[in-house]
Amino acid sequence: MTDQIITGHTRLGCLLGTPVAHSISPMMHNEAFRLLGLDCVYLCFDTRHADLRNMVQTLKEMNVYGFNLTMPDKERILPFLDDLSPAARMIGAVNTVKNENGCLIGHNTDGIGYMRSLQDTGYNVKSGAMTLFGAGGAASSIAIQAALDGVPALHIINRRGRSWENAKRLVRQITENTDCHADLTDMADHDAVRNRIANSTLLANATSIGMAPDTNITPVPDLSCFHTELLVSDIIYNPRCTRLLQDAMATGCKTFNGMYMLLYQGAAAFRIWTGQDMPVEEIRRKFFS
Ligand code: NDP
Repeated sequence: MTDQIITGHTRLGCLLGTPVAHSISPMMHNEAFRLLGLDCVYLCFDTRHADLRNMVQTLKEMNVYGFNLTMPDKERILPFLDDLSPAARMIGAVNTVKNENGCLIGHNTDGIGYMRSLQDTGYNVKSGAMTLFGAGGAASSIAIQAALDGVPALHIINRRGRSWENAKRLVRQITENTDCHADLTDMADHDAVRNRIANSTLLANATSIGMAPDTNITPVPDLSCFHTELLVSDIIYNPRCTRLLQDAMATGCKTFNGMYMLLYQGAAAFRIWTGQDMPVEEIRRKFFS
């Protein structure tokens, strides 16, 4: 373990998106750099008023080691990258970019992070169907990773909104490229949603429903949808216990939140940038307990 001193050789990485000031990523990555003695720093840049194309070009010229993207830039970044990993191509969104000698390569570690946090609960991914609320950036990553990891059936649920066409594309991608059976349900069709959940052993909320400050809403307002065989997860981590998780716990379901997904997606990005394992146990103790 070394003290971190900024030198003339220190490499920069960052998080782009808006809002970003609340993010735990700078603490996580900077502490990992410090623990491993790597001469790198990680900062946050709010892109609300930025021209993303210019910003990315500037980062490239500054020879950053890489960067992360959060809402709303995970899809907006695609035209400005030189190449995509196979998984990021299927997902259609990027949360991690690596600068490989001037070529910006897009990856997506959100799904890896979710599946790793699921593994911590002892759940067997092959044991039953999954109901996934959402079809935005994070949901797409989870859907593809879950299918690649062997979830036998995936019920995607979204409103007929901005992400509906993406949800249809996801179902096609999964059907064509994996053994998982995927289908899509309109969130407004309450009977169909109830049937999908009844048929599942895992439920994940990957929408922003329930995220602060709108903490009193839930994607599953009908409590009779919960059953004791169901493991309920929410990828939201602010608040740590969403209305969805409170309702699920009250009806006897096991639950987990998005904190460890955040840790593990960061650890996967760290590995892409540095080739080294993030010391996750130290980071978990310091920032995630
Ligand atoms: P996106 O904007 O890409 O997607 C949001 C999704 O939520 C879309 O499917 C959207 O549907 C749906 N949605 C939003 N509001 C409503 C609503 N009122 N009713 C119904 N559906 C709604 O965001 P991300 O995928 O990047 O992030 C989603 C959530 O996941 C956020 O809360 C974020 O904080 C969290 N997250 C957590 C991570 C972790 O590591 N734990 C990592 C990444 C994200 P539509 O587009 O059709 O309107």
